[in-house]
This record gives sequence, structure tokens and C-alpha cells, in this order.
Amino acid sequence: MSGIDDLPPLREVIKAHDLRAKKALGQNFLLDLNLTARIARLAGDLSDCDVLEVGPGPGGLTRGLLAEGARKVLAVEKDARCLPALAQIAERYPGRLEVIEGDALEVDVLAHLTPPIRVAANLPYNIGTELLVRWLTPKEWPPFWQSLTLMFQREVAERIVAQPGGKAYGRLALLAQWRAEPRIVMDLGPEVFSPPPKVSSAVVHLTALPAPRFPADPEVLSRVVAAAFNQRRKMLRSGLRGLSPDIEDHLRAAGIAPTERAERVTLEAFCALARSLQAAQ
Ligand code: SAM
Repeated sequence: MSGIDDLPPLREVIKAHDLRAKKALGQNFLLDLNLTARIARLAGDLSDCDVLEVGPGPGGLTRGLLAEGARKVLAVEKDARCLPALAQIAERYPGRLEVIEGDALEVDVLAHLTPPIRVAANLPYNIGTELLVRWLTPKEWPPFWQSLTLMFQREVAERIVAQPGGKAYGRLALLAQWRAEPRIVMDLGPEVFSPPPKVSSAVVHLTALPAPRFPADPEVLSRVVAAAFNQRRKMLRSGLRGLSPDIEDHLRAAGIAPTERAERVTLEAFCALARSLQAAQ
């Protein structure tokens, strides 16, 4: 018995199914079910929500989400070795856990989910930022999710919540803060994972805003921000020259000095620049 349910403790599950962690799959498992239940609580009220979990592994967070009352969990796992452990959990919570074996970058999850939807995951580090950027950049807003509660390396979490003026500020901060409200809600040392990673981790909770903070076309804004931070040490008039021959005029129209560097430009000003460039297209 584990405390949050009547299934075996995770150490036993891992041993029984011989789930030796594979580095290539970003496998660092959480073994403390009280901790996974706490992370599940950080995701908000789950009782009337479907929850998408990427990379359930042996199921620590999955069990937390179900014990905390998620209406349904859809778990996408690439490693077939984890499926028997997840099947045991599905048996314990009839009709509430659906597992898809596959790559989260390829599976079409929406066909399996009913709104309202929240996302909660201890993400494989190798695909974490790619998934986050995808969830943040749909053409239409609001997105399919109400909130994202995601584990990242602490350094990535800092980039998501960063403000202008520092090294952490860049594309991730701008995309995350344009249409969502991101907060770091928990810090975790390496020792809570098995095996322990080299760096510290943090849970970031992002709530989708009903509408973007400032108007801009998502594709144009993404292009502007990517170009600006690709050459973050250059003055914007040269870093962004590729976007328009009249880039200096557009920068001035957005209230940005052409000699400014990307690191010091606010979200509001980047949105104004995206609008000015789009109007001239
Ligand atoms: N959620 C579990 C936990 O907290 O203990 C495991 C987290 S572990 C950091 C990441 C999990 O993602 C592993 O189970 C790994 O097999 C899985 N994974 C890695 N790449 C994946 C992918 N492309 N699609 C789906 N799952 C993936």
C-alpha cells in the first residue's frame, strides 16, 4: 500500500516490471506518491476535467492525478515497458485512465479528450520545450487546454517566467507570457528523482488567458521574436534586417530604438512591432 491508493509502492512497481531508466527517453522517475499528489493538486481542480499526461512512466504522477479526482487521464507513453504498470492503475480506476503507446509529438490527443482539459506532466527533458512551444502557439486562442502544469529543468522554468533585462529573457518568456500566465509553483532537488538528474527542477503552472495580452498575429510575432533573439547581442536594426528593408521605420513605429537589443524590449513593444510589420505585408 502506498498511502494515496491501494496499489504497490513505486519502487516495487519499477522492480516488478524491470523499468531500468533509459537516458535516451529522458527517464527520471518520481517515486514519492505524496509528492506526485502535491503536484497534481498544483494543477487545480481536476474533478470536472480531462487531464493529458505526457510520459507517465511507471505512473507516479498518473496515480496522483487520479487520486486527486481527475475525471479522466489520457496518458501518452513512448516506452512500451511501462504499459503493464499503467494497466494495473487503469484497473484500479475503471474507465478513468486511457493509455496511448506512442510519441507525444505525433499522437493526435484531441480525439481522446473532452473539454475542459488540463495538461500535467513530468516531461521528458528532450522534448519538453518543443511541446510547450506547440501548446503555446496555436493559430486560434483560447487553446484546447485551460492550464499546463509542467516539470522542467530549473533553468528552463526561469526562462519561461523571465522579465526583460536578463539573460533568461527570450522567446520562451514572450510566447508563454503573451497568451498565458506562467508561475513557478514548486522547486525540486535532484534527489526526488530516480535516477537523480544533474540539475534542479521546477514545476511551472501556466493558465491560459481568455485572449492575448496585446494583439498580434501568432506567426508574425513568433518570427519576429525568433529573429530578435537569434542574434540577441546585436542591435535590433541589424538583427532584424532580414524581416524588412524598412525595419528601422517599423522599430520606431513600435516605440523601439533601432539601436536597442532584444533583451530589453517588452512584450507589448514586440507585439507592436509584429503589427507594424504585418500591416506593411
Ligand atoms: N511521469 C513519470 C514520473 O514522473 O515518474 C515519468 C517522467 S520521465 C521524466 C519522462 C517520461 O516520458 C518517461 O516515461 C519516458 O519514457 C517518456 N517519454 C520520453 N519521450 C517521450 C515521447 N516522445 N512521447 C511520450 N513519452 C515519452
